[in-house]
Amino acid sequence: MASSATRVLVINCGSSSLKFSVLPLQENTPVFSGLAERLGQPEASMTFVEAQGEKTTLVLDEPSHRCALSLLFSQLTRLNMLGSLCAIGHRVAHGGSEFTHSVLLTPETVDKIRRVSPLAPLHNPANLIGIEAALALLPELPQVAVFDTAFHQTMPPEAYTYAIPLEFQQRYQIRRYGFHGTSHRYIAAEAVAYLQLDPAHHGILIAHLGNGSSVCAVKNGRSVDTSMGMTPLEGLVMGTRCGDLDLGAAAWLAKCTGQSIESLCHLANTQCGLLGLSGLSSDCRTLQAACEKGVPRARLAIEVMVHRLARHLGGHLAALDRLDALIFTGGIGENSVLVRELTVRRLAVFGLRLDEQKNLAIRGGQSGVISAPGSPVIAVIPTNEEKMIAEDAAAIAGGRQATLLPANHF
Ligand code: AMP
Repeated sequence: MASSATRVLVINCGSSSLKFSVLPLQENTPVFSGLAERLGQPEASMTFVEAQGEKTTLVLDEPSHRCALSLLFSQLTRLNMLGSLCAIGHRVAHGGSEFTHSVLLTPETVDKIRRVSPLAPLHNPANLIGIEAALALLPELPQVAVFDTAFHQTMPPEAYTYAIPLEFQQRYQIRRYGFHGTSHRYIAAEAVAYLQLDPAHHGILIAHLGNGSSVCAVKNGRSVDTSMGMTPLEGLVMGTRCGDLDLGAAAWLAKCTGQSIESLCHLANTQCGLLGLSGLSSDCRTLQAACEKGVPRARLAIEVMVHRLARHLGGHLAALDRLDALIFTGGIGENSVLVRELTVRRLAVFGLRLDEQKNLAIRGGQSGVISAPGSPVIAVIPTNEEKMIAEDAAAIAGGRQATLLPANHF
């Protein structure tokens, strides 16, 4: 590897999109980033954003992931950036029970990812398209897969086992895996560094609240429980996902509406959550504005979300033997003064209390402690999954094992 190679290309391939960023090691913001959208449709295009914020949108010759990657690599060549890359890090949704850490992509590891892909039929096949196209176009560069599930592989059996006949866990891999692991791992490490916690003895609750949301209980650097399950549908009320739902209610709904399981699952992922409750929007900002105007369904949507969140935070406390900090992150966690206030108010029984002024002051990507004196620490820490992926990719490309809990190097 050339010594001048000090940047990582981070790729996140969705079924019809491809997001990328070029991150210099030791820095938090990309020098080049962008997004290809509507892949698979005639109007596919790709937007590139340079370090100074200059934006260019180009039409793709062919609406494929491979074409988007070729265009990206030709842009990287034009900007003299290709030679500065030491690795590519690919975000992969599901690693099943197979992957407990990020791994170097080899024909064997690609094969293993393919084998666990039925567990995430909407996400992993798209991730694999990006991986295979990037490996074909840049075979010399080390490429690494970073899994959303890997951090939660430390959960004990009682946290990951569904109470269904146990044979199904073995036969069909039906168990809880958890997601947002890259974000939870990043935040856990950041919290230890920022709040000067003992790396070997701490208990942290993390509320990652965005379009997708999950809670994680971290004990001494390891995930011990999380709210998402076998798929990212379980747990909290999200933008368009219902989170926890009585299977009996789902079966009754299917019967009443004559829907198949597949179409019910689609509904639960795309038409529920804040959107379904409010009938207005999946976006928390829009709902907050509607709340201020007195729209009852917007208020109810936020209250159902917050009630469920507080319930999960309280439940996740049971997985810890101490509470050093509650951390809010993600688009809502980092910005919504209201959601933080309503949530913490419901957790007063645990001694958690906010400092109103500090809560008001922290938003827009800032870190800060927002708890009142005497309360366990409550803090806001912005997440940076790209940074975590870049760190892992560089470590593995450099022959080092990516650590479960990185040292204080952020
Ligand atoms: P993410 O998926 O992490 O990008 O988060 C997206 C969510 O964050 C959306 O529901 C946004 O409405 C929400 N969000 C972003 N900024 C704010 C804000 N200032 N106040 C409330 N919610 C916000």
